[in-house]
Amino acid sequence: MLKKPHKVGTHTLIKYSLKKILFISLVILFLPVGQPLLAIQLESYPGSELMVRFEPPLKDIAQDVIDIYPRIKSNLKKTLGWEMPFKPTVFLIQDKVYFKQLTQNKFIVAFAAPDKNLIVIDCSRLYIRPHRLDHILKHEMIHLILHYHIKSVHLPRWLDEGVAQWLSEGVGELLEAPQRSFFEEALLSGKSIPLRNLKYSFPDDKNNLMLAYEESRSFVTFISERYGDKKVFEILQRMQKGNKIQTAFSASINASPEEIENKWIRQQRRQNTWLIFLAGHVYEILFLAGALLTVIGFIRFLIKKRNYTDEDDD
Ligand SMILES: [Zn+2]
Repeated sequence: MLKKPHKVGTHTLIKYSLKKILFISLVILFLPVGQPLLAIQLESYPGSELMVRFEPPLKDIAQDVIDIYPRIKSNLKKTLGWEMPFKPTVFLIQDKVYFKQLTQNKFIVAFAAPDKNLIVIDCSRLYIRPHRLDHILKHEMIHLILHYHIKSVHLPRWLDEGVAQWLSEGVGELLEAPQRSFFEEALLSGKSIPLRNLKYSFPDDKNNLMLAYEESRSFVTFISERYGDKKVFEILQRMQKGNKIQTAFSASINASPEEIENKWIRQQRRQNTWLIFLAGHVYEILFLAGALLTVIGFIRFLIKKRNYTDEDDD
């Protein structure tokens, strides 16, 4: 564990050779062609288990990453049963404009690039919600571990994200926490996103992105609550061995992902029965309420009229 930063040098990224700098390849990957690249200054902590690169004002956070990384890694090994036998690089970015250039998505504060064993965190916005550094780091490490061990078959985006949130206290890399109401509204309107549409990527627009995160977490949580945590791990282990998701589900819980998805949606709808009933009968309820108010008003009018009449009689 390094206690003091080893300053490899303060660099201007744009001066680097494309072949030598990993980060540049990332930039090329994420930046649209022709967009000018901002320059940021970076220092490095070359730890024994990971490399942390950071903008100079983030030195303390970089030290925190070095300190907490071994504990998270060890906990994940116990939970998932999988090693993390590679040395990731964690980039800590303070410049949110630069971060946004990398992601082209203003709704997230971190991402993992598993093909490069890379985690990038926008530290400028960590304070906006109780986005604790350890939770975010853990979440992104889970993405790296899953992709490291599941290589021979496609890991659906919803499973990747669902497991990462499930194991990291529900934290995703969204700037705002997923809103339960998005999923409830989708259930009410019958507009939840089928998981087959979240196989390769998530939607770009904010509401559907939030919904995709919420659904992924909810579905994996449903499997763990209904069939047990072990079944989620079993599915992952079967995929690690090269079984496609259909086979992994069938062998682990004797049902296809689609059958489990239908059960999950049915259960979620049952939990929201009253809301669904209210949403489906909103006009009748308003009409009834209006009619009741009219009757109450008429009765009050009659009572007042009788009181006036009685006073007149006195
Ligand atoms: Zn994630």
